[in-house]
Formats: sequence, structure tokens, C-alpha cells
Amino acid sequence: MSDATMKQKSGLSRRSMFFIVLTAILFAIPLIPGVPVYWITLLDNIGLAALVAIGLILLTGVGGMTSFGQATFCGFAAYTTAVLCAYHGFSPWISLFVAVAVTLVAAVILGIITVPLSGHYLPLGTLAWGIAIFYLFSKLDFLGRNDGITPVPPISIAGYQFFDSRSIFYVIWIFVIIAVLTTTNLLDSRTGRAIRALRGASGAAESFGVDTTRTKLVVFVYAAMLAAISGWLYAHVQRAVNPTPFGVGASIEYLFMAVAGGTGHPAAAIFGAAFVTLLKEILTRLLPFLFGGQAHYEEVVFGIVLVLILQKSRLGLWPLVEKLLPQPADPFIDRKAEALPVRTRPEPGSKILDLDTVRKQFQGLVAVNDVSFSIKAGEIVGLIGPNGAGKSTTFNLVTGTLPLTSGKIEFRGEPIHGLSPRQIAQRGIGRTFQHVKVLADMSVLDNVALGAHLRGSAGVASASLRLDRAEEARILAEAARQIERVGLGEHMHKQAGSLALGQLRILEIARALCLDPTLLLLDEPAAGLRHFEKQQLSELLRQLRSEGMTVLLVEHDMGFVMNLTDHIVVLDFGTKIAEGSPAVVSKHPAVIQAYLGADA
Ligand code: ADP
Ligand code: MG
Repeated sequence: MSDATMKQKSGLSRRSMFFIVLTAILFAIPLIPGVPVYWITLLDNIGLAALVAIGLILLTGVGGMTSFGQATFCGFAAYTTAVLCAYHGFSPWISLFVAVAVTLVAAVILGIITVPLSGHYLPLGTLAWGIAIFYLFSKLDFLGRNDGITPVPPISIAGYQFFDSRSIFYVIWIFVIIAVLTTTNLLDSRTGRAIRALRGASGAAESFGVDTTRTKLVVFVYAAMLAAISGWLYAHVQRAVNPTPFGVGASIEYLFMAVAGGTGHPAAAIFGAAFVTLLKEILTRLLPFLFGGQAHYEEVVFGIVLVLILQKSRLGLWPLVEKLLPQPADPFIDRKAEALPVRTRPEPGSKILDLDTVRKQFQGLVAVNDVSFSIKAGEIVGLIGPNGAGKSTTFNLVTGTLPLTSGKIEFRGEPIHGLSPRQIAQRGIGRTFQHVKVLADMSVLDNVALGAHLRGSAGVASASLRLDRAEEARILAEAARQIERVGLGEHMHKQAGSLALGQLRILEIARALCLDPTLLLLDEPAAGLRHFEKQQLSELLRQLRSEGMTVLLVEHDMGFVMNLTDHIVVLDFGTKIAEGSPAVVSKHPAVIQAYLGADA
């Protein structure tokens, strides 16, 4: 880690240097004498497609939302700029803002309709409006029907017109580089962690205050914005628009590019776009030569090659590229960053949580049967009972993950039943899950930092432009502090997926602590831990209690529970059968019968 810190402090990482050199080589290509215009035109097309594919990597690859409608967003922008510049004499740069704004409005409306759809309904939804809007493009009179709009003026700066492939190359690729940088920045931020959590851990993200529906919409609109810029460029590069490039066929091709590139990095979109564009180009030239005739065999071969790639490497081409790159530097943790604000602690001994005849029924099954108990601030309370007793369900009711059938829950004197997990997290209840919910391919540090989501406020714009660094430093420092506190310091920069199950449970505690909770709900935190690790966990929970934390924990290890807790509530078949100090509960006949009896 000290090595990484050094690298960060001495300026750019080796990886950044590598990217800069690669960009410099790319930007030199049009300057090399004798490079055919045809090559430059191919590179222009790759850049235009890469812009769309970068958005799809974020939307589909990272966020898990498949869209068959990205070409539609290119179309909105291309037609807007064509109408404004060809018919009304607008400058392309002014029409860029209008085109992006029109696409933004369209994306928000289409997003609000389609993004909440789950599973395969989402791609089907995008397919539906993709087809419908393509039909509009080709039927509306003022958009020129199938003939489209022509001529569209070229982009110009201070009188210089970007007419030819060589000059437009730089305009296109500057946009591509900016898009890669802003998207990379975005992923490496508070909002980025929320986006990355959408696919694998959206339930956990909600419990830490992420508005997943809104985050999905934000990603959807962001991807549409990149498609809009590509569409705007396209109109001025081609100097004409017609419906063909904005249909579902084109959308599918963009999707191929994103998938072929891989989800590892926004720059993978460039490789995906290059691969698909070049493959199509080669096949279109080679196949008629091999088979003769006019038949479009290239579509068939193209399909076969793509299926083979997906078979071979589900992660796309990026892992192959990544092997050649220097390892990314570990994120720098600024130990001197100002601590995040903390919430006021409740008065020790005051009632912090109160369950009043709480009931949860799943159809005929009463999982939690009119249970009442309360917890005082500064206590460690055990919630025990045989498997299926309703312990996890009780947790889910308190944290808002499940709605109550009836009853009341108060937290710090305020009713919280009926609130969303987000609103409950906001009030200071942190939790872990019986079935761990972490992102295996995200670092331990980032997983834990997700817990501090509500303690920051940086959004997409500030993250993309790196204006969030002061806040991000505070969040990462807090996450690092909690990771070290629970004893996972040496694993901080590893992928969470490389940790043992027991360690992941501890990781979840660190994540919950990052919320700055006043009440911590731990569902079987010691399961899978070795004896020594359990002792460490006990020690940690005692330490937290001494600092004023209140803990409600579910645990099967009776030694662990009896030694640690101040108070125990026992459930059996959803009903509270006993409650009291560990000494009282362990001698309670009903408990021995229902629970300890089974062990004895
Ligand atoms: P515990 O955590 O004490 O082992 P749970 O709270 O997970 O028990 O489950 C209590 C009962 O509720 C079990 O019978 C379980 O099968 C049932 N149950 C839990 N969640 C659901 C659900 N989402 N739908 C239907 N039944 C459920
Ligand atoms: Mg359970």
C-alpha cells in the first residue's frame, strides 16, 4: 500500500501514463504521411460508435440494464441538429446544446416508463419504443421521411470547417477521450459505487440509503447523453441524416460492441467498437471475394463470430487488453481527511427501539406473531430461536425491507413502520444480512464505503468532473478506519470475492458502521467464524457498546450470545416465548424445551 501511496503522490500512475501514450499514438495516426483516408474514416466511425458503447458499458455492463434503444437517442440528437442547422441556420455548437437537451427530455420520459420494469421486460420495453420511434423518424414529413435531411453543415471553429475525415477525427476522438475520463471518474465515486451495486446488491444498497430506482434512471440518462453526442457528431460528419442508422439493428450492433469490449473499463468500449467495426468491414470485403455473388453472407459470419466470442470470454475483450496494462494503483487513503459528521447519540438507557405487537404474515404462514419488545440505548440484545423462528423476518420488518402486516415500530421515539429501507437507514439503523450481500468484484474498501453513502452528497456532475475529491477522501478515510477497526485492514484493497465467508460477515459490519448507526442489527455475524475470530468479534462489539452503540443480534452460538448480551428475546414459530437476562433466559423452561432442549 505504501507503494501505491507513493505512486499517487508522485503524480500519475503507470497505468495513466500508459493511456496517455496510447492516446498520443492514436492522435498521431492522421498526421502520418500516406495513411489512407479510408483508415481515418474507419477510425472516425469507431470513435462515433465507441461513444454510444461507453454509455452501454455503464448501463448494461455495470448497471445490468439491457437497452435495445441506444440508436434512438443518437437519432433524437441527429435529427434535432439537422433540423436546426439545415432548416434554421443554427450554428452546430448551439444546436449541440439543444440536441442534448431534447435527448435528455426524451431519455427522462422513456426512462421513467421503462427503467422500473424488471427482468426481461426492460429490454423488451426499450425494443418497443426503439421500433416505434424509428417508425416516426421515417414517416414524419418535417424530418424528410425516408430520405431524411440534407445537407447538414459541417462543424466549424473560428471559421475553420471540419469537412474531411482527418480534421473531424480530432473532434470525434476528443469527445471519446472526455467520455472515457468522465465515465471512469463517475464509476470511481460515491455515485459510482451505487451504480456498481445496482446489479449484484441492490437490496443492500437500498439499506444504505441508495435510491436504486433513481440511480438506474441517472445511468440511463447518462448513457443516452453519450448517444446524443454521437448522433450530433454523426449528423455533421455525414452532412446528412436519414432513419437507417437509428433503427433497432444499429442498437443491437452497439450492444454487441459493449459486450464484445467487456465491462471492466469504459475504455473497453473502444476495443469493442473497433472490433465490431473492423470485423464487419473485413467480412464485407472478404466474403464476396471468397463466395462471390451479392448475398450478404457477412451478416451470417458476423453473427457466428460474435456468438463464439461470447462463448469463449463472457467478459469480452477487456481482460485480454488488461493483461497488457500496468496494474491500477490502489486508491490513496488520506488519513488526514476531515472526519465525516456524526449523529447525536441517544441517552444511554433510554428506549431506542420499540416493537409493539408486530406481525408478519406470508399468506397463511405467520412468520412473526404479534411480537413486542424494546431495546435500551447502549445494550447488546440477542434475538434467538430455532431456525424459522422469525428472527430474520423481524430484522427485515425493523429495517423496512419487508412491510408489516400489523403492529407498530418506533425508533428513537418516532414511528418507522411504513418507511422505506432508505428512510430507516437515514435515521441511523445499520444492518448486516444473514445471506451476505457484497459485490464480489469490488474492493473491500469500496464495498465498505458504500455504507457511508448517506454521509456524502456528490452526484454525477461533480463526480464526472472530479469535483468530489474532498468528500470522497473523507468517505474513503472513514471506510478504511472501519475496515481496520474490524480487523480486515490487510484485505482493504483486495476484491471482496477473495475473502472467506466469515470475513465477508465482518466486512458487512464495517459497512454498517460506515452509516454511523445508533442501532446495529447483526444477523448471524459469527456464523462461519473460527473460535479466535469469534472472540475478536465479541471484543469489537463490547468496544462498540462502550462507545454508546446499541446492538441487536441474531446468533446460534449460545456461548457467544450468553457471554456477550445484556438482554435476550426468544422467538419460536414467530411467537415470543421468553425474554430477560441471559441467566434468566437460559433457565426458562419454555426456552429449554423449544431451543436449548434441541441442542442438549
Ligand atoms: P429465522 O431467521 O428465525 O431462521 P426467518 O425469519 O427467516 O427465520 O423465517 C421465518 C419463517 O418465515 C420461515 O418459516 C420462513 O420460511 C418464512 N419466510 C421468511 N421469509 C419469507 C418470504 N419472503 N416469503 C414466505 N415465507 C417466508
Ligand atoms: Mg435467519
